[in-house]
Amino acid sequence: MTLLSSWVPGANSADTDFPLNNLPYGVFSTGTLDARCGVAIGDMILDMYAAEEQGIIDLADEPLFELPFWNELMEQGPAVWTALRNRLTDLLTEGARDQGLVEPLLVPMIDATLHMPLVVSEFTDFYAGRHHATNVGTMFRGPENALPPNWLHIPIGYNGRASSVVVSGTDIRRPWGQLKSPDHDTPAFLPSRRFDLELEMGAIVGMASDGPITVDEADAAIFGYVLLNDWSARDIQAWEYQPLGPFQAKATATSISPWIVTKAALAPFRTSTPDREFALLDHLKDTGPMLYDINLSVTLAPDGKEATTIAQTNYREMYYSSAQQLAHHSTSGCPMNVGDLLGSGTISGPTKPERGSLLELSWGGKDPITLYTGETRTFLEDGDTLTLAGHAQGDGYRIGFGTCTGTLLAALEDPYKR
Ligand code: CA
Repeated sequence: MTLLSSWVPGANSADTDFPLNNLPYGVFSTGTLDARCGVAIGDMILDMYAAEEQGIIDLADEPLFELPFWNELMEQGPAVWTALRNRLTDLLTEGARDQGLVEPLLVPMIDATLHMPLVVSEFTDFYAGRHHATNVGTMFRGPENALPPNWLHIPIGYNGRASSVVVSGTDIRRPWGQLKSPDHDTPAFLPSRRFDLELEMGAIVGMASDGPITVDEADAAIFGYVLLNDWSARDIQAWEYQPLGPFQAKATATSISPWIVTKAALAPFRTSTPDREFALLDHLKDTGPMLYDINLSVTLAPDGKEATTIAQTNYREMYYSSAQQLAHHSTSGCPMNVGDLLGSGTISGPTKPERGSLLELSWGGKDPITLYTGETRTFLEDGDTLTLAGHAQGDGYRIGFGTCTGTLLAALEDPYKR
């Protein structure tokens, strides 16, 4: 696959995140346009509400782009997903017959505010990165018992909260919570002191199911992917997590990038899961390459200062694919809905600069990292801005995700003051 040439400004640059090969789906507004669905192409966004209203996009009997979410399109199923991608490719390709019709519907990305691209039905977060699980397990249980006994057999997860999922650019408030220091007999209610990020990918379920589905069916049901930062209060988690797992530690916020990159756009970058120590049971066995080769990075910028890249890794490091996670999620009969969001789990690689959380980078706070500014970090400080970025690298083009940013605001002085 090479770069597909487009007539849209900026779309043929080797380093744009949004060439014609990509066509990711988001929701935007401008000073004059209400929030609506849009497709990123080069430096522009195609207004899907206007395109449908003018009959340039006509995929179903009822309108699909009246509401500022992509759920209606997802509900139509894979045949319509493909029809839309084909139609957009025709309209935006170099020399397209309808260029004159489409040109007035393009909005400069620089003028747009981006919003949540979908209504998140439910949010489930997994723990499927072996390097991350091994690092965390080594810190808490020692190297012999780093991985729990179930870890190599099922993708471990917990049910999170859709209500706490926010779009990139949303400020995050440092939470208060119950903390228990080893030096004290009783817990105290305080602002979190060990607030962290987790570099993850989010998979978006585009087809509903009601009963167990196979790994192949799960792969077919996934609509696309986003970058995901699962903000985590390590000190709240350490006290609350036994025996039911994380609760308030993960409930402050989870940020996602504003563009849904479709499974179709990522198809040339499929790759296999790593070698396995134990064969998976049949219902979770790999049936083909279902991970993706996606370069990922995290930068940290202290308030008003220059950013430092603190981690660089790749999605292909995961032990389980999103398809395996979705298949596992359905085994009990759990119904899955259009708009369900599945977090991959923190993505870390085998070496230190590839660790996708400060917990791992600073080894539980014992080994601070040094930023470009000369400051050090164990966990996040007030005013820090984190930016996740990701792209799959093709031959002369990239399939980019844009960025997923968030700034940490100081804790409230009194969270119960009205
Ligand atoms: Ca997580």
